[in-house]
Amino acid sequence: MDQIGGDGGNGGSIYFIVDPNSNTLIDFRFTKKFKAENGENGSGNRCFGKSGKDLYVNVPRGTVVRDSETGKVIVDLSKPGQKELILKGGRGGKGNCHFATSTRQAPHFAVDGEKGKEKEIILELKLLADVGLLGFPNVGKSTILSRVTKATPKIADYHFTTIDPNLGVVKTEHGDSFVMADIPGIIEGASEGIGLGIQFLRHIERTRLLLHVIDVAGVEGRNPVNDFNKVNEELKKYSEKLSTRRQIIVANKIDSMQNTSNFEELEKTATQNNIEIFKISAVTGEGLNELFNHVAEILKTLPEEEIIDIEDRIVYTLEDDKDEFNIDIIKGEYIVTGPAVERLMGRVNIGDNESFAYLEKMIKKLGIDAELRRLGVKEGDSVKILEWEFEWYE
Ligand code: GDP
Ligand code: MG
Repeated sequence: MDQIGGDGGNGGSIYFIVDPNSNTLIDFRFTKKFKAENGENGSGNRCFGKSGKDLYVNVPRGTVVRDSETGKVIVDLSKPGQKELILKGGRGGKGNCHFATSTRQAPHFAVDGEKGKEKEIILELKLLADVGLLGFPNVGKSTILSRVTKATPKIADYHFTTIDPNLGVVKTEHGDSFVMADIPGIIEGASEGIGLGIQFLRHIERTRLLLHVIDVAGVEGRNPVNDFNKVNEELKKYSEKLSTRRQIIVANKIDSMQNTSNFEELEKTATQNNIEIFKISAVTGEGLNELFNHVAEILKTLPEEEIIDIEDRIVYTLEDDKDEFNIDIIKGEYIVTGPAVERLMGRVNIGDNESFAYLEKMIKKLGIDAELRRLGVKEGDSVKILEWEFEWYE
């Protein structure tokens, strides 16, 4: 007597999880391929195969996952603790006990499990800083960041890449915390792509508050009011939206001010523009507590910014594609491709009559049959499903 076979286990799935301790994608430079466990085979006597273990991959908050083929966003992992399914494990094969009925005991027919699925994705880290440090080079942005966070940016160095941003968590004495990013100096012409250019400015797009750092020591013969205006002009050219973002002026290097006139001029400009101004020295630490306590209070009143643009919104999900197929007519041959037939062909045993009958049934069920007819398929035409060629008959 035939045995009743159990189902094969499902393959493991792959999930991405937001890890609060990670803030770069640097690990992914080396680990590029992830594989969840295969499901076990089912065995006789209704014994079901064990499912493969799921794989969890830690990513930093702000990771945007795109499908590399379409460039579309699959998920954006912007919430603390967020867990998203990236690739669902293949379905286990159906053992024959599913098909056994009282009249049809243990038929010689089993559907093969789907072959392992692969997906190529692009990971992109959108900087999710709440606060951005804005200003000319050498005004002390990196120094401020290194003073108030555990980040160790290079002082007087403009190196900056998307996978290795300088950002850190500021914890205030009142127990508030927020993320702050050091943005390399913007220079005149940055919005036209000169020098440090646009890609750096992109990183401040999602911040809710900008600390506009200005050197008031005036050692390089700079005029703080000019600096303030120039940086704002650049900002406006780059993005109208960004230029309306809330700013606080941070007058830095007060420890080495030659005289107070530069600062007083800046203070006037601040008042005219209705912007708050704080005096600090990143080197001595003077004024830092007052500034960041205040920043924490302001942040509580500002709305969260979206991390991906509206036109980039998720229009595609992993579940969407499963019944999709496409038929092209090339030189009189009907070519059927797409995820629906890939799944189907991965589960069918062409050499087996019963399996073949299952295939025919599925071709009807998925609507491939109807679509072929709509396209005008006739008796004797060749229909190619992936690499298998069939002759159409009525
Ligand atoms: P960034 O280009 O804006 O990131 O500026 P850096 O943080 O790299 O600082 C540029 C230079 O200014 C370095 O030599 C710092 O030591 C110096 N600097 C930063 N903050 C202060 C400050 O409060 N007082 C003084 N005297 N020097 C500072
Ligand atoms: Mg710097």
